[in-house]
Amino acid sequence: METGEFAFIRRLIGRLPNDNRLSVGPGDDCAVLPGGERPLLLTTDILTEGVDFYLAEAGAKAVGRKAMGANLSDIAAMAGVPTAALLGVVLPEDGSNGLADELLEGCLELANEFQVSLAGGDTNSWQGGLVISITILGEVGPTGAVTRSGAKPGDWLFVTGPTGGSLLGRHLQPRPRIREALQLAATVPIHAMIDISDGLAADLGHILERSGCGAVVESERVPTHADAVTMAERSGRTPLDHALNDGEDFELIFAVSAADGERLIREQPVPGVTLHKFGECVTDGYWLQTGRERVPLEPKGWAHRFSD
Ligand code: ADP
Ligand code: MG
Repeated sequence: METGEFAFIRRLIGRLPNDNRLSVGPGDDCAVLPGGERPLLLTTDILTEGVDFYLAEAGAKAVGRKAMGANLSDIAAMAGVPTAALLGVVLPEDGSNGLADELLEGCLELANEFQVSLAGGDTNSWQGGLVISITILGEVGPTGAVTRSGAKPGDWLFVTGPTGGSLLGRHLQPRPRIREALQLAATVPIHAMIDISDGLAADLGHILERSGCGAVVESERVPTHADAVTMAERSGRTPLDHALNDGEDFELIFAVSAADGERLIREQPVPGVTLHKFGECVTDGYWLQTGRERVPLEPKGWAHRFSD
């Protein structure tokens, strides 16, 4: 049996019957539920001490911000508008006085900025590390939900900013691209979109899997963050490797028609953001192209691993 996070999610999706109460079920950045005026979006994320953050290094406030930011980023990936959040925390029993309040402060900072109501949650304690789980409810934007599954061969692939090296600090300061996604969706039809949590190559892989097509990524066009260059000096890996495979940039990857892609490059319609074309969708395979050479692209991004 295939093991680990994504194999489990695939098995889970395979076991579920078609459920007409869900327009989009597990497998996308948010679930979509038919709603009143606008369909609803629902998403959740868990952060675990020692895996997603080191508490002593980050501080509880940054952890709260990161948890809220990661969830908001999934709403952005559907081009949605967040409305309310539930905050679940499991605190370490010892020495955690003050921790919950700091965590809350970080959560509220982003909740206020993005006008999300804190609607409730749950608080436990145990003899392990800090765990935080946020669930966000939102509404789809005026042009409808953008899923991972609508990319087509011939589409151009874009990313909303440079990637790689987020571990140097940006992973604790997500800038969820809510406004940017709404602006983009209002400008051109977006065929598919995802936010980068696992890594550009891995997350584009999720779009390809759901869309049933392939892609060519042009190595010279992948926008590499300065942090990826700094990390490469220490890690012995290349800046491109960091840009392709580091997680938690929380930028958006999206696919549009070639004609709309040309327009986006010409007009750059999203204030504060440069849209970078870094590849194209093809019928089959997943490729990294450098000059004229094409090699299979094997994502090495983040996945939670578990086995027998
Ligand atoms: P993201 O990185 O966008 O948060 P994930 O990789 O965590 O997405 O999850 C991928 C998909 O699998 C999502 O649609 C999520 O809801 C679903 N999923 C993950 N874990 C579970 C689970 N334990 N039960 C049901 N659905 C799950
Ligand atoms: Mg996501």
